[in-house]
Amino acid sequence: MLEKNIIKKFKDIAGENVWTEEKDMMCYSYDAAFGEQCPPDVVVKPATYEEVSETIKICNENSIPIITRGAGTNLSGGTVPASKGGCVLLTSGLNKILEINTEDMYAVVQTGVVTADLAAAVAEHGLLYPPDPGSMKSSTIGGNVAENAGGLRALKYGVTNDYLMGTKFFYTEGNLIISGGKTVKLVTGFNLNGLMVSSEGLLGVMVEHIMKIVPPPAASKAMMVTFDDIMNACRAVSGIIANKVTPATLELMDSFTIKTVEEAAKIGLPTTADGLLLIEVDGHPAAVEDEFQIVKRICEELGGQVQVANNAEERDKVWEARRKALSSLARLRPTLILEDATVPRSKIPAMMQALKDITKKYDLTMGTFGHAGDGNLHPTILTDKRNKEEMERVHKAVDEIFAVALKLDGTISGEHGIGSAKAKYLEMEVGKGTIEYMRRLKAGIDPKNLLNPHKMGL
Ligand SMILES: Cc1cc2nc3c(=O)[nH]c(=O)nc-3n(C[C@H](O)[C@H](O)[C@H](O)COP(=O)(O)OP(=O)(O)OC[C@H]3O[C@@H](n4cnc5c(N)ncnc54)[C@H](O)[C@@H]3O)c2cc1C
Repeated sequence: MLEKNIIKKFKDIAGENVWTEEKDMMCYSYDAAFGEQCPPDVVVKPATYEEVSETIKICNENSIPIITRGAGTNLSGGTVPASKGGCVLLTSGLNKILEINTEDMYAVVQTGVVTADLAAAVAEHGLLYPPDPGSMKSSTIGGNVAENAGGLRALKYGVTNDYLMGTKFFYTEGNLIISGGKTVKLVTGFNLNGLMVSSEGLLGVMVEHIMKIVPPPAASKAMMVTFDDIMNACRAVSGIIANKVTPATLELMDSFTIKTVEEAAKIGLPTTADGLLLIEVDGHPAAVEDEFQIVKRICEELGGQVQVANNAEERDKVWEARRKALSSLARLRPTLILEDATVPRSKIPAMMQALKDITKKYDLTMGTFGHAGDGNLHPTILTDKRNKEEMERVHKAVDEIFAVALKLDGTISGEHGIGSAKAKYLEMEVGKGTIEYMRRLKAGIDPKNLLNPHKMGL
C-alpha cells in the first residue's frame, strides 16, 4: 500500500488517469498467460512523454517497481507484478500515429498504438506493415517490440525486430534515450534498438517507435491443404522450405484444433482431417504461379488435398479462423497453458511426433497449431488448475516439451518471451554465464531493479 502523499504525486502528474482501488488493481493482477495473479498498488496512464518521465522519477525516488503494460496480451506473465505492489504504467494513453512517410517508407508511432490500427493506416496509403501477430487487433506496437512479436507472415517478412528503425525510451532516472532514426543505414553507437527488442519492460519504458513499411506484394495465392496424417503435413512444411520456396504464410493446425475452431467459428473447416496447412505464396504474379505449383506438388505427393481460395473473402475467413485458434481452445476448459517451443524447420516432424508422445504419456488434452513454417508450434494444454494431480502431469509434460525442443537445436520461446512463466527454463537454454551477463547489464541501467523486476529471473 502506498502512502497518500505518493499517490498525490502520481495524481499531480496524470490527474484522473491514476487508479488505486482494489477492484481496479484486480484487473491488472493478470495478463493473457497462465500464472499467479498479483495486484499492483497503483495504475498510472500517462498521456504525454513528460508524464511518463515524471511517473518514472516518482517510482525511482520511492523505490516502486514499474511494470509497463500495453494491451496485456503477452503469454509469458510479463505484465503481472512479480510480488504484490508496484506501479503499472499503462501505455494506452500514448496512442497516436504521428507520421506515415510514403517516400521514405516508415511510420512514426507512439508506443500504445494498436498493431492492427497501424496496419490499417499504412494500407490506406497502399503500403504494408507486415508483422501480424494473432493478437494484432489488441496488441500494441510497444508490446510487439518488447516481445519481438512474430505473426502469420513472419516466415517471409520477418518479425517486429526486422521493422524497428528507431525507438525513444526512458530509463529509471526519467531521462529520454533516443536510438535509431529514419535512415535505412545508421551506425551511431550501440544498437540500442536491438537492446529494446525482447527487453520485456526490463530495460526501459518505450514511448515512440519508427517502423519500416514496405510495398505490398503484387499478387498472392492462398490455399488450405488437408492431410489424413498430420505427420505428412509436417513433412510438407520441411519439404516446401527445403525446395527453396518461402511462402508468406505456412500455418499448421492439428485435428483437435480444427474441430475446436470449427465448432466456434463455423466456417466449414474439414473436421475429418488429421492436419491442415494454411499456405499463402506472394510476390510477382509469375513467381506466385511457379511457387504455387511447387507447393501443390509437394503437398499432393504427401497425400494433401489442395483447395485454393477463390477470392480475398474466402481467404480472410480461413485466416481469421486460424487467428481464433487460441480463443477457441480456451473455451473448452478453465485453464489453458500455451507453449511456443520452436525448432529448426527440418525438425518439425520430429517435434510433432514428440508432442503426440508426450500427450499420450501424460494423458492430457492438447491441441497443437502454429507458425509451422517458422518451426514455431504452439502445443496448447487444456486443463484445470484446481486439479492438483492433473497439474503435476501438465508441468512434467511442459518440462519435457522444452527438453525435446532444446535437444532438437530449438529454443524454449520463438515469440512469446520469458517473463515469469519461463524464467526457470532460461538457464537450460543459455547457461548461467549468459544470465549473469544480462543481470549485470540490467543492474548498470537499473541499479535498484525497478523495471519489471524478477522477470526472466533477473
Ligand atoms: C490470442 C493471442 C494471439 C497471439 N498471437 C501471437 C502471435 O501470433 N505472435 C506473437 O508473437 N505473439 C502472439 N501473442 C502474444 C502477444 O500478443 C504478443 O506478445 C504482443 O506483442 C504483446 O503486446 P501487448 O501490447 O499486449 O504487450 P503486453 O502484454 O502489455 O506487454 C508485453 C511485455 O512488453 C512490455 N512492454 C509493453 N509495452 C512496453 C513499452 N512501451 N516499453 C517497454 N516495455 C513494454 C511489458 O512490460 C511486458 O513485459 C498472442 C496473444 C494472444 C492472447
